[in-house]
Amino acid sequence: MSTGDISEPAGSPEAVVPVLAGEGISVRFGGIKALTDVSIEIPPRSIAGLIGPNGAGKSTLIGVLSGLIPPTSGRVRLAGVDVTSQPAHMRARRGMARTFQQPELFAGLSVREHLVLAWRIARKRSRLWTDLVLGRAWKPAGTAERDGVDRLLEGLSLQKLANAPVAGLPLGYSRLVEVGRALAASPRVVLLDEPLSGLNGDESEHLAGTLFELTSSEGVSFLLVDHDVDIVLDRSDTVTVLDFGQVIASGSPDQVRANERVRSAYLGDPVDGAAKAEETEDEHV
Ligand code: ADP
Ligand code: MG
Repeated sequence: MSTGDISEPAGSPEAVVPVLAGEGISVRFGGIKALTDVSIEIPPRSIAGLIGPNGAGKSTLIGVLSGLIPPTSGRVRLAGVDVTSQPAHMRARRGMARTFQQPELFAGLSVREHLVLAWRIARKRSRLWTDLVLGRAWKPAGTAERDGVDRLLEGLSLQKLANAPVAGLPLGYSRLVEVGRALAASPRVVLLDEPLSGLNGDESEHLAGTLFELTSSEGVSFLLVDHDVDIVLDRSDTVTVLDFGQVIASGSPDQVRANERVRSAYLGDPVDGAAKAEETEDEHV
């Protein structure tokens, strides 16, 4: 997947440049400290989880990383390049995409049409919107577009629903369409703000599993924000935990699970239960 003007960093395999990094980010809204000195790194081809209760600052951090909220202090780097002063559309051009907490799909369009729209917008087919508004016929798809959209449908396991209008889709599939729209721009990183909210257990597993597959098939990274702690810990390569605008833990899922502050704040009994079960296994009964 090519994303244009940023070349991959040369050097040893150990010196992996994060695809996206926030460094010492602070944000104040009037008297509210929404974020205080928050740092986060998203490695290439990975899922980085971001968890924390409502009001912890997760959406604010996504806003800062994507360029919609200016930080009071701190820096944002996209594939090593300082983009702190760049607006959202410049960051998008450099390979960043995001979804919002509320899906915004067009009820009358099919799954495929949504992906075609996103594909064309990402490639600046500017007449598209006037075509749509004026009800003119859709431009026939070129081979690259058809192949690209087919590949997206396949990556999202949405081939069978390609021609279904999004209006009738269960929420889990709408979320996949949202992810597909973000992926249509061939980004290197996609920021997902609570994509699992409102989904049942199976739908959440399916979506998280699809994201996991896409990290290798598309070479993309995801920032997965949610308060479903279990799924984020299961599916992420690295996890950051926010509380009252501050990072209280970060590292591998195992490191975060073992963290005392996280255990007392979020994980409670289930983890205690799991830990006890492990201890029992080790004991000579
Ligand atoms: P989360 O996404 O983790 O639920 P948010 O980032 O939405 O948390 O909010 C973090 C804090 O910042 C909360 O106290 C929230 O009320 C406050 N906040 C968020 N956006 C604004 C804003 N535009 N103006 C004022 N306060 C805000
Ligand atoms: Mg939020």
